[in-house]
Amino acid sequence: MMARAAAAVVVFSCTGCGRVHFEDGGGSGGCGHCGAALVGKKVSGRGNIYAFSVVHIAPEQMDAPYTLALVDLEGAGRVLCRLDGFGVEIPTVGGPVVFEGNSPRGPLFRAGEISENARG
Ligand SMILES: [Zn+2]
Repeated sequence: MMARAAAAVVVFSCTGCGRVHFEDGGGSGGCGHCGAALVGKKVSGRGNIYAFSVVHIAPEQMDAPYTLALVDLEGAGRVLCRLDGFGVEIPTVGGPVVFEGNSPRGPLFRAGEISENARG
């Protein structure tokens, strides 16, 4: 059985602090946190929710409510992102998500169905 394939995505791991970035650091080419070099790496784009929080009082220029999450990205590590596409459903810790794309407000993941997780 075929699941809808997640788009492969290139992430950038920091050689200093280990943080995972979705962009290459722009002009500096380094980690936005510690300034060390970044190494690009292709990953599946699939992950699982480690934790999430629905934000009801948003900073300026953000539409509330939105969902912030820590996602364990397959082959990369834990990343901070926003979740989309859950509608009225509440995300589940451990639930599968798929990288959707970068936005001006950071990386975006949506609910993802992964057939490897056979139930029952
Ligand atoms: Zn760093």
